[in-house]
Amino acid sequence: MLHACGYAGKTRDAAAPTGHRLIRSLRRGDTASPESSYRSEADMKCETSVSRRRLLQRLMLGVSLAPVAASALRTARAATPAPLLPVDAPEAKAVHYVENASDAREAKPGSNCANCGLYQGANGSARGPCSLFPGKDVKAAGWCSSWAPQL
Ligand code: SF4
Repeated sequence: MLHACGYAGKTRDAAAPTGHRLIRSLRRGDTASPESSYRSEADMKCETSVSRRRLLQRLMLGVSLAPVAASALRTARAATPAPLLPVDAPEAKAVHYVENASDAREAKPGSNCANCGLYQGANGSARGPCSLFPGKDVKAAGWCSSWAPQL
């Protein structure tokens, strides 16, 4: 006989109380008796099957939602630009960073952050990350002594 959860095994245990014995036990209020706490083998297998199915469903849902969550996180990060590197920060001073390459006497003509190999901003962007200063943006028009040509 097929159980409600799909279990096709035995649905009635040999030790199961008959209807009369169970009713008598319930009338006596004998809640601690094995009869009143009796659960059939089919019920227990069904519970195990259902909880295993729920666990698998939750795992599959988690796996399928992970890329969506990662994408949302990336979008949120992209929407919030990193703070600009202050020119007076010690790490900026160490490499003579300026926000306008024309202010740097050492800069080769035409060189700036936008055409530096370490610049990670999008083409045409006014600012973007630089691998030299993690967590900070530099101005595309800026320059520092670590400027290197793009490969
Ligand atoms: S390393 Fe390149 S991108 Fe970074 S601040 Fe210096 S010139 Fe600009």
